Amino acid sequence: MKSNPATRLQSTLKTGEHRGVNPSITDSATYQFDDGPSMTACFEGKAKEAYLYNRHWNPTIHHLSTALSAMENTESAWITGSGMAAITNTILQLCSAGDHLISSLTSYGGTYAFLKNLLPRFGIETTFVNITNHESVIKAIRPNTKLIYTESVTNPLLQVSDIYTLSHIAHDHHLKLVVDNTFTPMIITPTDLGADITVYSMTKFINGKNDAVAGAICGSEDFINDLINVTSGVSMLLGPVLDPIRASMIHKNLFTLHIRMRQHSRNGLFIAQKLEDKGMKVIYPGLSSHPQHQLMTRIFNETYGYGGMLAVDLKTSEKASDFMVAMQKRHVGYIAVSLGYYKTLFSNSGTSTSSEIPREKQLKMGLSKGLVRFSIGLDENIEQTWALINESLNEVL
Ligand SMILES: *Cc1c(COP(=O)(O)O)cnc(C)c1O
Repeated sequence: MKSNPATRLQSTLKTGEHRGVNPSITDSATYQFDDGPSMTACFEGKAKEAYLYNRHWNPTIHHLSTALSAMENTESAWITGSGMAAITNTILQLCSAGDHLISSLTSYGGTYAFLKNLLPRFGIETTFVNITNHESVIKAIRPNTKLIYTESVTNPLLQVSDIYTLSHIAHDHHLKLVVDNTFTPMIITPTDLGADITVYSMTKFINGKNDAVAGAICGSEDFINDLINVTSGVSMLLGPVLDPIRASMIHKNLFTLHIRMRQHSRNGLFIAQKLEDKGMKVIYPGLSSHPQHQLMTRIFNETYGYGGMLAVDLKTSEKASDFMVAMQKRHVGYIAVSLGYYKTLFSNSGTSTSSEIPREKQLKMGLSKGLVRFSIGLDENIEQTWALINESLNEVL
């Protein structure tokens, strides 16, 4: 029996000072000690419960971290100031100059740019592969390979990673499997499928309000302790911390995530089916036309559905733009990057969030110029939303 991520999360509920129903915010950057030796013990990592300084730990950050590690079934978690900080810190902690890693070719544009353009400056090389082709993953492994990096459901083409098989490939070769689960919190629990580390942009579904940028790294206690080791930890030394006030806001939003994911998925499936019935080329893991539909059905937590992300091909970037303008005019949602918001957001991936990827690479990965990526909102009346999308399509087709 798989335990449920929302049930695990709810087991971490905590009250605050003065019988407050929310944990209190600790709005302090530094902490007082009784004497010299107790401070020394904290520096040496021997004082478990003591707080030292906010770049290391903060009680409010700790509440959010406990909640996330319960949800993800990991021993520990660490909170970062952005999703990119979670991704870059994890990779830099695991790889040194001379090392190599394997990454899915389709991934978040910022991740691709980091691997492709920044890591070579530090002598770390990446081989990009089609992550659904396991033979090419195995072929890319070298003696100096340290990790396999992928997204559960990749951006923007919504390829589904077979985390279970990838974790076996990784572990057979003594590699770590790092999974970005930003598109599918609650829906997929990478740890349960064998992933070693799960990273998040909490800016998206987890927070769900589009008012904050934040990230998280969920993994073993040893790994998180390495990250924040005061003398050698990448996170401790690069310092991408989140402010405790923001952490408290995100923590509260986490407790409605399961309800939101269900509604995003319900609406996503509805719109995807309507678009497909209309004869459009749609990418959505919940449609049987999706190449990894069966895999997704095997690995997802069906209570939360197939997710709120879908993509539809309008063939040209001009048509894509006309379609988005027509939808925005009808208040379907906003032409905006990002995702996981309560309103629907849409963008033309090739010219925006994936523009870090050169055009010829985009073609190679099958990213059409006219691809419109949707993050479907929490609309109660999705039939009416579909009527407006349909009108918009009829105006531009
Ligand atoms: C947005 C996003 C990121 C980057 O997160 P930030 O919070 O913007 O730094 C990483 N991965 C995926 C899949 C994303 O959607």
